[in-house]
Amino acid sequence: HTGFIAIVGRPNVGKSTLLNRLIGQKISIVSRKAQTTRHRITGIRTDADAQFVFVDTPGFQTKYKSALNDAMNRGVTTTLSDVDVVLFVIEASKFDARDIEVMKLLPKHRPVILVLNKADLLKDKGQLLPFIQRMSSQFAFHAIVPISAKKIMKVDVLIDAIKPLL
Ligand code: GDP
Ligand code: MG
Repeated sequence: HTGFIAIVGRPNVGKSTLLNRLIGQKISIVSRKAQTTRHRITGIRTDADAQFVFVDTPGFQTKYKSALNDAMNRGVTTTLSDVDVVLFVIEASKFDARDIEVMKLLPKHRPVILVLNKADLLKDKGQLLPFIQRMSSQFAFHAIVPISAKKIMKVDVLIDAIKPLL
């Protein structure tokens, strides 16, 4: 298997930390110059049975609402439709309006995995269940995976969820 994976989410949810965990020592290249048509490669993880090419989605902007950004965001939806898997990262305990803006840009015809990051900060893991139910009613996520990118909790579960989609 080999495929392209985009990691999206508002600032500070832990995307960079997660990318570092996912590629870890397995990084084969990170090049500013490595380009695909619509994406910039940020890292590649090579396992015995699969290769994961992580890419940036240029123009991703949720901070300001304007006609220009709306147009740019339509572009984002197109570029996100171009990858094999989208990881939509949110904080398990801090879902807010900015996350909803990002959610609107998720492609309808690609598998999107909802990553509930910073699960280590939850005092009560039982809080997750009603939240997961609410999120599932709003978007057809391929999977919902609680993790901690920082504490390296369940990151392998995420890899196992992505692999069959490549
Ligand atoms: P990005 O803006 O989405 O790329 O987020 P970063 O990867 O830069 O992370 C933002 C902050 O959240 C940093 O201080 C990270 O150390 C912290 N962080 C990321 N993942 C986790 C996690 O799983 N648990 C906790 N407690 N903090 C995290
Ligand atoms: Mg970052």
